[in-house]
Amino acid sequence: MSTLLAVEELNVRHGLLQAVRQVSLEVAEGETLALVGANGAGKTTLLRAIAGAHRPAGGRISFDGRDITSLAAHRRVKRGIALVPEGRRLFPNLTVEENLRVASAARRSGPWTVDAVLEAFPLLQPRRHKRAASLSGGEQQATAIGRALMTNPRLLLLDEVSLGLAPVVVEGVYRSLAALLEGGATIVLVEQDLARAMSVADRVVCMLEGRIVLEGPRGGLTREQVTEAYFGLRQGATA
Ligand code: ATP
Repeated sequence: MSTLLAVEELNVRHGLLQAVRQVSLEVAEGETLALVGANGAGKTTLLRAIAGAHRPAGGRISFDGRDITSLAAHRRVKRGIALVPEGRRLFPNLTVEENLRVASAARRSGPWTVDAVLEAFPLLQPRRHKRAASLSGGEQQATAIGRALMTNPRLLLLDEVSLGLAPVVVEGVYRSLAALLEGGATIVLVEQDLARAMSVADRVVCMLEGRIVLEGPRGGLTREQVTEAYFGLRQGATA
């Protein structure tokens, strides 16, 4: 499989705080990579840097073989990178359909349309003309994912899609994602739930204090290894 995304020795700061430290990783076309790690490990910052929402202090990001490190976020969307941000960030006064159409300006050609999104997320069908503010958490999350899909991305970045959702709703969201995965989408997802991350992803990358401390294919890592890396219990041993 060819490499779609390559991150090399990336450093990202929030003022004096270095949130991402010398991170290097590659994502192959069609691969699903789960980023795990405790709160504050730098996962969101890394995703935002890949999407172009946060300029790195050093290092390099390439997409489809081209350097995009200094490319503006909207140009990255045009190249095929879409971010579903933490907290969803919908327009509360716009309807579901209007929120989906907002992404049309940045649309690449491809199969995703309003109707295709409503088919992938049937729970949105009766909500099509309702304002986003009136939706449940799960419906909002589905709308946020749908909005990203409307750009017809080659790489979908998902930040904590299960956050604040009831388990049954999370199931529904992941069921829809599973269909995308079977369709060969390339996905990087941040997921707090280790068991879910390890079941859905081809590869798991664990971050701790801005660094990658463990990385391996789904079947090649045990739950114990990931848990230890997650909490930094074997930091000395793995460094
Ligand atoms: P979470 O699961 O809580 O989202 P995370 O692994 O995604 O955690 P980040 O949100 O990337 O971690 O945060 C990494 C570090 O950067 C943390 O120490 C956090 O406090 C800090 N940080 C994040 N955003 C900002 C910001 N806008 N300004 C200053 N510091 C920030």
